[in-house]
Amino acid sequence: MPYVLKKQRSIAFGLWLLGLAQLGFGQAGPANPWVSSELPLLAPPASLTQGIWLKGDLHVHSRHSKESSNNPVGKILAFSQSVGMDYLAITDHDNHVDGDVAHHTWADPEFTSPSVLLLYAAEWTTTRGHGNAFAAQPYDHRRLYQVRDQRDVVVGAVKRQLGVNLSANHPSGKDHFGYSYDMLESLEVWNSVIWAKNANALMIWDDMLSSGRKLTGRGGSDAHHGRPDTPAQATANSVQATANSVQATANYVGTPTTWVFATARTTQAVVDALTNGRVSISANPFAPRVELSADLNQDGRPDMMMGDNVAATGRPVRFRVQLAGKMAPDATYRVAVIKNGGAFDTLQLSGRHPVVEFTDAPAATGRTYYRVQVEGPPTPYPQVPESMALSSPMVGLSNPLYFNFDPHF
Ligand SMILES: [Zn+2]
Ligand SMILES: [Zn+2]
Repeated sequence: MPYVLKKQRSIAFGLWLLGLAQLGFGQAGPANPWVSSELPLLAPPASLTQGIWLKGDLHVHSRHSKESSNNPVGKILAFSQSVGMDYLAITDHDNHVDGDVAHHTWADPEFTSPSVLLLYAAEWTTTRGHGNAFAAQPYDHRRLYQVRDQRDVVVGAVKRQLGVNLSANHPSGKDHFGYSYDMLESLEVWNSVIWAKNANALMIWDDMLSSGRKLTGRGGSDAHHGRPDTPAQATANSVQATANSVQATANYVGTPTTWVFATARTTQAVVDALTNGRVSISANPFAPRVELSADLNQDGRPDMMMGDNVAATGRPVRFRVQLAGKMAPDATYRVAVIKNGGAFDTLQLSGRHPVVEFTDAPAATGRTYYRVQVEGPPTPYPQVPESMALSSPMVGLSNPLYFNFDPHF
């Protein structure tokens, strides 16, 4: 073997070894993915007070989805206004209009509201599963539709160019999101009024969070069917004829409701809050909203809220769980605290202004997250009267508080 070639080979081998060492394949074995060795300096959390909680539904189908019934855009918006929704994402199946949602849902003359902020959105409905795309302004959804059967590297590049918030739908059900979760900003952890279907979605969420992915959990009713205005308009999905036919009376806008803490009453602020994780999910628009915050320096004031990510010092942190909204004065709620995917504590909330606190010291090195889920008596939703029994016992889900998550993951 010529000397020069041999030398080049040994240099290449040396570089290969160096590469392995950098990847953590040294004598100690693969690096522990939980340990974040070089955390970049994290920006302090945004203001905890300069913003407003806005409520909405992020997964609704109108008449532009072919399997819907009695659900024109105007009817959805009139209903949303009547129950005080602040924003809405009408997410029609893009494959029903060859990807051209811009000339169907978004171009519908009824797609306008004096009070409800309308996101530009669609359900990316592909052979590999379903996801919702959310945007503050119109975007070229056809490009996402065109690459639906491509590999993730192609889909991811298009998605980045479009700048949309991409969100996995019903991740544990039929048509689960069969693409890389690296392309996502959010995940539908609560799909439809039937809470019991969502336990595995929480498991998937916890796995993604535990692996370092800072993914916002959100809700979506996936409502397709408006109540028939006349008996002649009734369909199999809009009358209470069988146990499966509860759609129009039990699953409608707001079951569940997703709250976002937005810096302004604009579509952009709604999408930004969704991306940042300043989000809480309630069983319906009138159910209490769970808020999780933390006091990092023991001065009695919260320093971070849901979705925020700070560097852990190793010192104790005071966590606060509270419910906002109207509560029955005699109601008692159970709070499950989840830390890093496992059960950490169980607390109780009651009274007119329910607040409960707990203390823990997130490790100074490695990632930690906390989230809570609240169970208790259902809150009446008179406009969707049969929803209460199906969403019970879940009342609300918080998004996580994050410690030492790598923002460049
Ligand atoms: Zn779907
Ligand atoms: Zn859907």
